Amino acid sequence: MKKKSLRDLPPQALDGKRALTRVDFNVPIKNGKITDDTRLRASLPTIKYLRDKGARVVLLSHLGRPKGGPDPQFSLKQIVPEFEKLLGAPVEFIPDPANGAATTRRMPRGGVALVENTRFWPGEEKNDPDLAKTFATLGDLYVNDAFGSAHRAHSSTEAVAHLLKPAVSGFLMERELEYLGQLLENPKRPFIAVLGGAKISGKIDVIRSLLPKVDELLIGGAMACTFFRALGLEVGDSLVEPDRLDLARDLLATSGKKLILPRGAVIAPSLERAKDSKPVSADSIPKGWAVFDIDEPTQHDFRARLVRARTIFWNGPMGVFETPPFDAGTRAIANALVEAGKKGAVTVVGGGDSVAAVAGMEDKLTHVSTGGGASLEFLEGKELPGVAALEDK
Ligand code: ADP
Ligand code: MG
Repeated sequence: MKKKSLRDLPPQALDGKRALTRVDFNVPIKNGKITDDTRLRASLPTIKYLRDKGARVVLLSHLGRPKGGPDPQFSLKQIVPEFEKLLGAPVEFIPDPANGAATTRRMPRGGVALVENTRFWPGEEKNDPDLAKTFATLGDLYVNDAFGSAHRAHSSTEAVAHLLKPAVSGFLMERELEYLGQLLENPKRPFIAVLGGAKISGKIDVIRSLLPKVDELLIGGAMACTFFRALGLEVGDSLVEPDRLDLARDLLATSGKKLILPRGAVIAPSLERAKDSKPVSADSIPKGWAVFDIDEPTQHDFRARLVRARTIFWNGPMGVFETPPFDAGTRAIANALVEAGKKGAVTVVGGGDSVAAVAGMEDKLTHVSTGGGASLEFLEGKELPGVAALEDK
């Protein structure tokens, strides 16, 4: 079921109203300084739209993982000056949601307030209805723009959505649902998924969910080594999950034609001995060596397939991309996505490390999901509580 977005609301639903807006201000902070303000910037279109329509914007977010109550290290107050600069307007800080309602009512149309870290209150992560009631005193309607937190049923993402009407998605959330939803619903074909990263175990549900939907599933990363072993090949000291060998065999038996494994690998005796690295074919990995990347023939093979695709989803690097030269395979895939995109393919990247691997290329890709765990759960076909709680279109 499609969810209502901010765009679907008539102007009178916003003018003068207090829009309680769940954002993701979980930014990295070092010595009190924000080291990456991407998430603050990403929230601006939704906030600007609300202000333009005469709403009073009350922002809710978590920051980090505070344990056992308020902790200045995790206070959202420290991000106010930076956020004011980005917004170009003053931001009122509400230290305690339990007595913030008066402040939100006093705010002018277009005013913006930020509530202290939702995780300072013990009920948040238990989806406590009383804490949700407290949050609900701060708004007249609810907007959720924090897709990355939508896989968790918390008071600020789930319970509160049932207490305010309308409850709709913001623009970031809308975009995530649109592009990730398109992958599951009616992808333009051929639809190719590229999966890599360290482990099969964390991705198995995504593999199972995507396999019936894709035309091809290209496998890279250490994950490929578990498949190599399942085929009876020697993989040396490569990262393998012995307890997933049966699973890998099962997948090869049932979906063998769709699963495309690397032709070869770039190997080294260890990560530290990267300078001794060399390419080998998949059936010639010697004992005492380990796979750290896909080789060039595989890059060419994967590229040739990807540039014919009309929809591509990519999660998980092809190698240990943090340590050159083992970033080459991952870079080749990133470039192949850009090339396919130029030919009209829809290109979607999701995950933590995969998103880091395409940093700076975002404008050449259709959609880079910042959802992390939430995007994977969505693609597994699971219902995300923070999405389910929003109104249907
Ligand atoms: P994402 O965060 O995008 O979902 P993962 O966390 O699943 O991706 O995987 C990323 C990690 O996988 C990276 O740290 C990378 O170094 C590691 N990795 C990829 N290929 C290999 C390999 N051949 N051997 C060991 N680690 C690998
Ligand atoms: Mg990761």
